[in-house]
Amino acid sequence: MEQTLVILKPSCVARGLMGEVISRIEKKGIIITAMKMMQLDEKILREHYAHLVDRPFFPGLAASMMATPVVCMVLKGIDVVEVFRKMTGATNGRKAEPGTIRGDLSMSGQANIIHASDSVENAKIEIARFFSPEEVMDYTPANLGFLYADDEL
Ligand code: UDP
Ligand code: MG
Repeated sequence: MEQTLVILKPSCVARGLMGEVISRIEKKGIIITAMKMMQLDEKILREHYAHLVDRPFFPGLAASMMATPVVCMVLKGIDVVEVFRKMTGATNGRKAEPGTIRGDLSMSGQANIIHASDSVENAKIEIARFFSPEEVMDYTPANLGFLYADDEL
Protein backbone atom coordinates (compact mmCIF):
# COMPACT_ATOMS: atom_id res chain seq x y z
CA MET A 1 0.00 0.00 0.00
CA GLU A 2 1.10 3.58 -0.68
CA GLN A 3 2.60 5.72 2.10
CA THR A 4 2.87 9.49 2.62
CA LEU A 5 4.78 11.81 4.95
CA VAL A 6 2.86 14.28 7.10
CA ILE A 7 4.20 16.95 9.44
CA LEU A 8 1.99 18.56 12.09
CA LYS A 9 3.52 22.05 11.95
CA PRO A 10 4.11 24.38 14.92
CA SER A 11 0.82 26.12 14.02
CA CYS A 12 -0.90 22.79 14.76
CA VAL A 13 1.14 21.82 17.83
CA ALA A 14 1.02 25.26 19.52
CA ARG A 15 -2.71 25.73 18.90
CA GLY A 16 -3.61 22.38 20.40
CA LEU A 17 -4.87 20.93 17.11
CA MET A 18 -2.80 17.72 17.00
CA GLY A 19 -5.71 15.61 18.23
CA GLU A 20 -8.11 17.22 15.75
CA VAL A 21 -5.86 16.39 12.79
CA ILE A 22 -4.98 12.88 14.01
CA SER A 23 -8.69 12.24 14.61
CA ARG A 24 -9.51 13.15 10.99
CA ILE A 25 -6.80 10.75 9.79
CA GLU A 26 -8.16 7.94 11.96
CA LYS A 27 -11.80 8.57 11.09
CA LYS A 28 -11.01 8.51 7.35
CA GLY A 29 -9.60 5.00 7.75
CA ILE A 30 -6.02 5.99 6.97
CA ILE A 31 -3.46 3.81 8.79
CA ILE A 32 -0.73 5.52 10.87
CA THR A 33 2.52 3.53 10.58
CA ALA A 34 4.97 5.96 12.24
CA MET A 35 4.76 9.02 14.48
CA LYS A 36 7.34 11.02 16.44
CA MET A 37 7.95 14.51 17.83
CA MET A 38 11.04 16.28 16.47
CA GLN A 39 12.71 19.68 16.68
CA LEU A 40 13.53 20.65 13.09
CA ASP A 41 16.67 22.65 12.23
CA GLU A 42 17.80 24.81 9.32
CA LYS A 43 19.66 21.93 7.65
CA ILE A 44 16.67 19.57 7.34
CA LEU A 45 14.37 22.47 6.36
CA ARG A 46 16.69 23.54 3.52
CA GLU A 47 16.41 19.97 2.20
CA HIS A 48 12.70 19.59 2.82
CA TYR A 49 11.85 22.98 1.27
CA ALA A 50 14.64 22.89 -1.38
CA HIS A 51 12.11 24.16 -3.95
CA LEU A 52 11.59 27.30 -1.82
CA VAL A 53 15.05 28.20 -0.41
CA ASP A 54 15.50 31.07 -2.86
CA ARG A 55 12.10 32.61 -2.19
CA PRO A 56 11.95 35.78 -0.06
CA PHE A 57 9.64 34.12 2.48
CA PHE A 58 12.00 31.18 3.14
CA PRO A 59 13.64 32.67 6.30
CA GLY A 60 10.20 33.31 7.80
CA LEU A 61 9.00 29.86 6.77
CA ALA A 62 12.08 28.20 8.33
CA ALA A 63 11.61 30.20 11.56
CA SER A 64 7.93 29.24 11.69
CA MET A 65 8.83 25.54 11.26
CA MET A 66 11.37 25.73 14.13
CA ALA A 67 9.12 27.67 16.53
CA THR A 68 8.09 24.53 18.45
CA PRO A 69 8.70 20.80 17.96
CA VAL A 70 6.67 19.24 15.17
CA VAL A 71 5.07 15.80 14.86
CA CYS A 72 6.15 13.72 11.87
CA MET A 73 3.95 10.86 10.72
CA VAL A 74 3.83 8.21 8.03
CA LEU A 75 0.33 7.38 6.75
CA LYS A 76 -0.61 4.28 4.77
CA GLY A 77 -3.55 3.56 2.46
CA ILE A 78 -4.59 2.94 -1.12
CA ASP A 79 -3.84 6.15 -3.10
CA VAL A 80 -3.08 7.83 0.24
CA VAL A 81 -0.84 10.55 -1.26
CA GLU A 82 -3.66 11.94 -3.38
CA VAL A 83 -6.38 11.27 -0.80
CA PHE A 84 -4.48 13.08 1.95
CA ARG A 85 -3.48 16.05 -0.24
CA LYS A 86 -7.22 16.51 -0.91
CA MET A 87 -7.94 16.34 2.82
CA THR A 88 -5.13 18.89 3.40
CA GLY A 89 -6.55 21.51 1.04
CA ALA A 90 -4.92 24.39 -0.83
CA THR A 91 -1.68 25.87 0.54
CA ASN A 92 -3.27 29.11 1.73
CA GLY A 93 -5.74 28.45 4.54
CA ARG A 94 -7.84 31.42 3.44
CA LYS A 95 -8.30 29.85 0.01
CA ALA A 96 -8.57 26.20 1.05
CA GLU A 97 -12.04 24.70 0.74
CA PRO A 98 -14.14 24.31 3.88
CA GLY A 99 -14.05 20.66 4.90
CA THR A 100 -10.30 20.42 4.34
CA ILE A 101 -7.84 20.56 7.24
CA ARG A 102 -6.41 23.92 6.15
CA GLY A 103 -9.81 25.24 5.08
CA ASP A 104 -11.30 24.48 8.48
CA LEU A 105 -8.35 25.26 10.77
CA SER A 106 -6.11 27.93 9.19
CA MET A 107 -6.33 31.58 8.15
CA SER A 108 -2.72 31.68 6.90
CA GLY A 109 -0.65 31.02 3.80
CA GLN A 110 2.29 29.98 5.98
CA ALA A 111 0.95 28.84 9.36
CA ASN A 112 -1.17 26.28 7.55
CA ILE A 113 -1.23 23.42 10.10
CA ILE A 114 0.29 20.54 8.14
CA HIS A 115 2.69 19.39 5.47
CA ALA A 116 1.69 16.47 3.23
CA SER A 117 3.80 14.89 0.45
CA ASP A 118 2.64 15.95 -3.02
CA SER A 119 3.61 12.85 -5.05
CA VAL A 120 4.41 9.18 -4.52
CA GLU A 121 8.01 9.84 -5.54
CA ASN A 122 8.42 12.75 -3.09
CA ALA A 123 6.69 10.76 -0.34
CA LYS A 124 9.41 8.08 -0.54
CA ILE A 125 12.17 10.72 -0.37
CA GLU A 126 10.47 12.57 2.52
CA ILE A 127 9.77 9.42 4.57
CA ALA A 128 13.48 8.52 4.28
CA ARG A 129 14.41 12.08 5.32
CA PHE A 130 12.45 12.00 8.59
CA PHE A 131 12.38 8.30 9.54
CA SER A 132 14.81 5.39 9.61
CA PRO A 133 13.31 2.22 8.09
CA GLU A 134 12.92 0.52 11.49
CA GLU A 135 10.82 3.45 12.79
CA VAL A 136 8.11 2.76 10.20
CA MET A 137 5.94 -0.07 11.47
CA ASP A 138 5.00 -2.96 9.22
CA TYR A 139 1.50 -2.79 10.64
CA THR A 140 -1.97 -3.60 9.37
CA PRO A 141 -4.92 -2.95 11.68
CA ALA A 142 -7.35 -5.77 12.50
CA ASN A 143 -10.26 -3.86 10.91
CA LEU A 144 -8.67 -3.74 7.42
CA GLY A 145 -11.55 -5.81 5.99
CA PHE A 146 -13.93 -3.06 7.07
CA LEU A 147 -11.80 -0.23 5.63
CA TYR A 148 -11.69 -1.73 2.13
CA ALA A 149 -13.59 -4.25 0.02
CA ASP A 150 -11.77 -7.56 -0.53
CA ASP A 151 -11.26 -6.82 -4.22
CA GLU A 152 -9.55 -3.52 -3.40
CA LEU A 153 -6.89 -5.18 -1.30
N1 UDP B 1 4.65 29.03 2.00
C1 UDP B 1 4.73 30.35 2.42
N2 UDP B 1 4.46 31.35 1.51
C2 UDP B 1 4.12 31.07 0.22
C3 UDP B 1 4.06 29.72 -0.20
C4 UDP B 1 4.33 28.72 0.71
O1 UDP B 1 5.03 30.62 3.57
O2 UDP B 1 3.88 32.01 -0.56
C5 UDP B 1 4.93 27.95 2.98
C6 UDP B 1 3.64 27.26 3.46
O3 UDP B 1 3.79 26.96 4.85
C7 UDP B 1 3.62 26.01 2.61
C8 UDP B 1 5.11 25.68 2.51
O4 UDP B 1 5.74 26.97 2.35
O5 UDP B 1 2.88 24.95 3.22
C9 UDP B 1 5.49 24.78 1.34
O6 UDP B 1 5.02 25.37 0.14
P1 UDP B 1 4.38 24.47 -1.01
O7 UDP B 1 4.23 25.35 -2.21
O8 UDP B 1 5.16 23.22 -1.15
O9 UDP B 1 2.90 24.20 -0.45
P2 UDP B 1 2.21 22.89 0.19
O10 UDP B 1 2.75 21.69 -0.56
O11 UDP B 1 2.56 22.87 1.65
O12 UDP B 1 0.73 23.09 -0.03
MG1 MG C 1 4.71 21.19 -1.00
